[in-house]
Amino acid sequence: MKITDVETITVTVPFEAPIRWAFGVRTGTTRTIVKVYTDEGIVGLGETYGGKETAIGIQHCKPLIIGEDPFKIERIVAKFRGFSGRGVLPVGNPLYFSALEIACWDIIGKALNTPLCNILGGACRRKIPFSAFVFYRYKGESGVGGESTPQDIVKYCSDLIDKCGFKVLKLKGGVFNPKVEIETIKELRETFGEEIGLRIDPNAIWSVETSIRVIKALEKYNLEYVEDPTWNLEGMAQVRKKVSVPLSTNMCVISLDHVPPAIRLGAIDVILADLFQWGGILNSKKLAAIAETFQLGLSMHSNAELGVSTAAMLHFAASTPYLTYALDQHYHHHVDDVITKPFVYEDGCMTLPDGPGLGVELDEDKIEKYSKLYKEKGEARHTFDPYRPDWVPMQPSW
Ligand code: MG
Repeated sequence: MKITDVETITVTVPFEAPIRWAFGVRTGTTRTIVKVYTDEGIVGLGETYGGKETAIGIQHCKPLIIGEDPFKIERIVAKFRGFSGRGVLPVGNPLYFSALEIACWDIIGKALNTPLCNILGGACRRKIPFSAFVFYRYKGESGVGGESTPQDIVKYCSDLIDKCGFKVLKLKGGVFNPKVEIETIKELRETFGEEIGLRIDPNAIWSVETSIRVIKALEKYNLEYVEDPTWNLEGMAQVRKKVSVPLSTNMCVISLDHVPPAIRLGAIDVILADLFQWGGILNSKKLAAIAETFQLGLSMHSNAELGVSTAAMLHFAASTPYLTYALDQHYHHHVDDVITKPFVYEDGCMTLPDGPGLGVELDEDKIEKYSKLYKEKGEARHTFDPYRPDWVPMQPSW
């Protein structure tokens, strides 16, 4: 079998309300879907972060994959990885080639008429547990959202737990003074008790000193972990020496060559896998083996995936026994999806699809609708906050 063509389609699907994080606001998710065509008529689906730049980047990748056998994934990834870290060519960017890698897995599953999970080692679990990504939000056009106080967040989480059955909540911090965010965690713990796992992620905007002070204040609330309290391996290592809460990251360890210095410095306890940042499913399997070998925790990052990449996450998670934490998930923020059978939460879990390959199909009407929305409104991720034009993430008073 040979790959004959690659097509990209960018879509924006709105969130039910704008979500806030340390560096800006997101009003929805912008994702680029890929279709990889073969000479045997099988079309593989992939999906990754971002819009126009991603689509251009994937088109740059095209000459390296046309004519390749989609079964030879190690060879294909090796071609792309040969350019990674050299900073001059988009083909080395894992966010781009991961979409193609995932599409190759979809082709293989379809060619063998079996779910992808069966090719990755088989399902250890069919129900994949997720942690609800919880954000302070602005009010959306429909009137939903507007959570800006600890009490608002508790009410919002209570509704999420009732509706989706989540057992773990991850608060996106770094939005307010840490005093507000400590109070939010306190309210969540006191409201939901020890049955609910809690995490917080301020996207590395606290200083080392602030991180130590805040995490010490949070110790009594028994968090699963604090994610990226401060910037870089050195900062994380300094914080980790002084606190008893595990530290996780999806910012300072995002490729295999970041793992050895992280271990040498004692910077982290938990790594968040990400099929896109880490360059696909195969590289993420290698990460899982490394994490297990070094007894590091393993969780999974979410970047507001739509159905195609959510399916890829589910197949990876189902076939990876060493996943020590529930995976992050934004899916409950989306107003819609672009696949024919959107996923649903049950007891905080999603169920592994059972069709061949990824087991999902595109809804072409939805693709057209949300592709049009992307063309009208552009990226849904804004690295500024229109309500806080003077905001700078590093706040000296913290
Ligand atoms: Mg994070």
